[in-house]
Amino acid sequence: MSGQIDDLPPLRDVIARHELMAKKALGQNFLLDLNLTSRIARQAGPLDGHDVVEVGPGPGGLTRAILAAGARRVIAIERDRRCLPALAEIAARYPGRLEVIEGDALATDAAHRIERPARIIANLPYNVATPLLAGWLLAEPWPAWFCSMTLMFQKEVAQRICAQPGSKDYGRLSILSQWRCEPHIAFDVGPKAFTPPPKVTSSVVVLEPRQAPLACRSGDLERVTQAAFGQRRKMLRQSLKPLGGAPLLEKAGIDPERRAETLDVAEFVALANAIR
Ligand code: SAM
Repeated sequence: MSGQIDDLPPLRDVIARHELMAKKALGQNFLLDLNLTSRIARQAGPLDGHDVVEVGPGPGGLTRAILAAGARRVIAIERDRRCLPALAEIAARYPGRLEVIEGDALATDAAHRIERPARIIANLPYNVATPLLAGWLLAEPWPAWFCSMTLMFQKEVAQRICAQPGSKDYGRLSILSQWRCEPHIAFDVGPKAFTPPPKVTSSVVVLEPRQAPLACRSGDLERVTQAAFGQRRKMLRQSLKPLGGAPLLEKAGIDPERRAETLDVAEFVALANAIR
C-alpha cells in the first residue's frame, strides 16, 4: 500500500517518530501512500534536469516521490518547523538535492532560488492555495520561471480553475488561470487518501503556462473581472458602471446586455485593454 520508491522508512513511522500530529490551522492533510505521491509527481512531466519548487513538504511523501523521479533539485518551503528533522533525513538520503526553506510560502520568493527549467509541484495547504496560485499566475515577467504547475486543490477550486463560460463555476479564478495557462484536472483524490481525511474530495490540477497569452495588464484584467463577477447576475452595463459602463463595453465590442459568465477570456482581455 505505501509503495517502495526508496530505502527510507514508511511515512507512518516517520510521522510517529517525529510526533507530527496534523494541525488543522496549517492545512495539514498528509499523503502517506508513495504510489499516490509518485502518480502526482508523474503528472508534472519529466523531472530529470529540472528544479522543483514544492510548497508544504510536511513529512515528505511528495518530496520523496519527486526526488525518486529524478528531479535535479527540490526547493521545499515549509512553515511548520516540526517537519524539519524528518525532511533532513530525506536531504541526507539525496545529498545536495533537497533544500528546505523554513517559512511562509506566501512571503518567500522562490523565483531567484531556482535554475531553469523549473516546475512547481505541491499538495497545497487549502487555506492558502488560492492566493498562492494567484501569485504564480500574476508573476512578472511572463513566461514565468516555471514550465508547469502540478497542484492539489479541493475539487471545488479545481473546477473553478478549469470552468468554461456559462457554467456556475466560471469566474475570476477561471479567467486568470486560463488567460496565462492551459489548466486541466488530472485526477481526483478521495478523502481517505489523506491523514487525517479532509471533508471534501480533492483534485490534482496541471497548469501549463502559455508562452504568449493575449496581451493586457494583469491589474486591469483583475479590475474588470472583479467588477463583472462582483455582480454576476447583473448585465455588464450595470456591473461595469464604475469602470465606464456601456461606452466601455461598446469600445471593447461587447453587447452591454450580456452577463459576466457569458464572456470568454479574449473578451475579458478586450475589456481590460479598453479601460486604459
Ligand atoms: N506535502 C505533504 C503531503 O503531501 O503529505 C503535506 C501537504 S499538507 C496538505 C500542507 C503542508 O503545507 C503542511 O505541511 C503545512 O505545514 C504546510 N503549510 C501550511 N501553510 C504554509 C505556508 N503558508 N507556507 C509553507 N507551508 C505551509
